[in-house]
Amino acid sequence: MNRFFYCLAAVLLCSCSTAVHAQKMPENSDDRVFCYKMQTGIRNNVAIPDIPGYMTLKCDFHIHTCYADAQVTPKGRVQEAWYDGLDVVSVSEHIGVHKTGIAFEDHNLVNQQAIEAAKGYGMLVVPGIELTRAKPFGHFNLLFVKDASVFSEVRYELDEEGKPKVDPETGVRLNDMETLRADIKAGEEQGCFFQWNHPGWPDKKSDWFDIQTEMLKAGHLNAMEICNHAEWYPRVLDYFDQYHIPMVANTDQHNPTAVDFGHTMRPMTLVFAKEYTLESLREAMFAGRMVAFWDQTLAGDEKLLEELVHACLKVKVIDEAKGRIEITNNSDIRFETLYGDHMNPVVFYPHKAVICTIKKGKKISFENCYIGRAKLQTNVW
Ligand SMILES: [Zn+2]
Ligand SMILES: [Zn+2]
Repeated sequence: MNRFFYCLAAVLLCSCSTAVHAQKMPENSDDRVFCYKMQTGIRNNVAIPDIPGYMTLKCDFHIHTCYADAQVTPKGRVQEAWYDGLDVVSVSEHIGVHKTGIAFEDHNLVNQQAIEAAKGYGMLVVPGIELTRAKPFGHFNLLFVKDASVFSEVRYELDEEGKPKVDPETGVRLNDMETLRADIKAGEEQGCFFQWNHPGWPDKKSDWFDIQTEMLKAGHLNAMEICNHAEWYPRVLDYFDQYHIPMVANTDQHNPTAVDFGHTMRPMTLVFAKEYTLESLREAMFAGRMVAFWDQTLAGDEKLLEELVHACLKVKVIDEAKGRIEITNNSDIRFETLYGDHMNPVVFYPHKAVICTIKKGKKISFENCYIGRAKLQTNVW
């Protein structure tokens, strides 16, 4: 008997293993075997819904390429952005930084290569450059540039030996104001959108100087980065309270994005546009319909954030009198809320539902949604 069972087991084992191998082993050992479980070319869609009347476009308005001081070509930047779930990208190369040593004659080349690559992905590219100066001006991205070649390579005031002069007290380089003013004027003439980059970099101070007031008065401070790459600047919330300049979040990417954000969503700016065209995007940006989204945090205009929250959350009423409801979050945004007697945030996780007791019309606090220093307060039904 025992021998019979041993034989049966051996036969079964043999046939099973043969069946498994039959699926995987090629008929000819020289074949290349397609690894179907490792299919390539899969986009990581980011689920953030539209709001009434507008499409929600996921954008990154600050990225570098191999032509200045980064590792990726303009085409590679477009590919990365598509795979990371974005709709719009801007390769905003430094003017006057040539650390990688790749020679090129015309700064327009960078934008042209990105625009050409984007055609294959049905994506939009906003032509841009980064004006790279010392503080107090700092760095500004000029978006929707028409001709990147006119901006100045000379950035600092030079001494007789041709070396950059520094402020004797702070040691900071002094900007060559003549070329800076010429660059700002060139941006104005091209109808550019002016974005103040990383106010807290590199000195961790996020100071607002006279030149920012001057830029604002001239209509040349159209957005400011509250988040740049993997850091954010709380003082930008104060500037938002004071001036209501739209806040944006960008990567300022130098590495391949998989190196820095392969494990998480990259920072992005949400723009609420009427259509998926460059003209419509431009109209939305100058109208200030933008919200920053980074590290599961949102920052922006109260009405826009309220509409976005309402678009993400779906409520099923279980008991109206008691306020018992089921809330489903149909987005990739994790909302942290505070209401009632809860000591800790109640989280509405992406693509999950939770049952809550919240009376109709009752406003609750969205702790990760900044409308300036204050948090968004809104009803969920
Ligand atoms: Zn910069
Ligand atoms: Zn940059």
